Amino acid sequence: MTQPSDKALVPFVSVDHMMQLIHHVGLEEMILGIASEIEADFKRWESFDKTPRVPAHSPHGVIELMPTSDGEAYGFKYVNGHPKNTSEGLQTVTAFGLLADVYTGYPTLLTEMTILTALRTAATSALVGKYLMPKGSKVMAMIGNGAQSEFQCLAFKAMCGIETVRLYDIDPAATAKCAANLAGKGLTVVTCKSGEEAIEGADIITTCTADKKNATILTDNMVGPGVHINAIGGDCPGKTELHADILRRSDIFVEYPEQTRIEGEIQALEDDHPVIEMWQVMTGQVAGRRDDRQITLFDSVGFAIEDFSALRFIKRAIEGTEYFEPLDMLADPDDPRDLFGMVQRAK
Ligand code: NAD
Repeated sequence: MTQPSDKALVPFVSVDHMMQLIHHVGLEEMILGIASEIEADFKRWESFDKTPRVPAHSPHGVIELMPTSDGEAYGFKYVNGHPKNTSEGLQTVTAFGLLADVYTGYPTLLTEMTILTALRTAATSALVGKYLMPKGSKVMAMIGNGAQSEFQCLAFKAMCGIETVRLYDIDPAATAKCAANLAGKGLTVVTCKSGEEAIEGADIITTCTADKKNATILTDNMVGPGVHINAIGGDCPGKTELHADILRRSDIFVEYPEQTRIEGEIQALEDDHPVIEMWQVMTGQVAGRRDDRQITLFDSVGFAIEDFSALRFIKRAIEGTEYFEPLDMLADPDDPRDLFGMVQRAK
């Protein structure tokens, strides 16, 4: 039987290997590493092919493809968003992703990305927070205590110096789960009975809820001057979290406007409402936070370059480790034109 050549074997990181890698590297270290990869890639924004992600909507949720390339490597993520899934014991968001070599077109990495998406989303949020949050921020409100929430809290602790998180979810069991998971992780955790209670004294408000509708997690009167809002959950047409009046009082920062106008909180505004692109803040071309009364809003939807950065981080992190397996997923006959002969010989 023909043995696949080494270059045709694709490193595959399973869910189990991803979890082992996180324990090997350290969760916060991994978030920091992915964040610095994202920051470096945002600073070379113009070298990437960019397109809004390609969605397939259904009444049940959405399935999306998120491709990008820097001319040397190509990456894409397959991701779903099904808020009804948790009631059936399934995840709202699951994902896997692939990296490939542009020169040969051969894949160079295939990996689970459900966990990696939580890491890269938290890394992006905290990275943006570092640029936009009020100086000396110590307290974050975390509204929506589902799958992403602990990652968000720990990223803001590691990168932004957050010391206290104030948790609220409509489901008290989700808040109890989040609080239990964060115990002993170096954060003061306060559980709250309402969104209003959660935002008391918060410098940063993170909204990370899942509902396939235009929800109002924050109303205008809840948002005082000077806060930074990290709005994660509104990431699909017809799925938003904030009252439009908050948007009108805020300076709005986005990843890729062409995608955010379709999917983000700014769906509620006119098409030409001004937004600031985060890559321009990171390269110093545009100011981030200007004063301590300004409301800054990160209208996060998740962009392909963040996944590309995370994939490249993983590709490097697994080198020389046992946290992957070589996958025989590319047919690679010795004579490239004799694909048929290779099939015959396998009999
Ligand atoms: P999840 O289903 O695990 O958790 C969502 C939580 O929100 C649940 O615990 C639910 O009870 C709570 N919730 C729903 N309505 C609420 C309300 N009105 N007030 C308070 N809590 C409420 O989902 P998840 O995986 O944590 O993802 C959360 C959201 O973030 C989803 O909408 C997802 O699509 C989005 N997301 C965005 C990005 C991004 O890059 N921006 C990345 C990943 C996930």
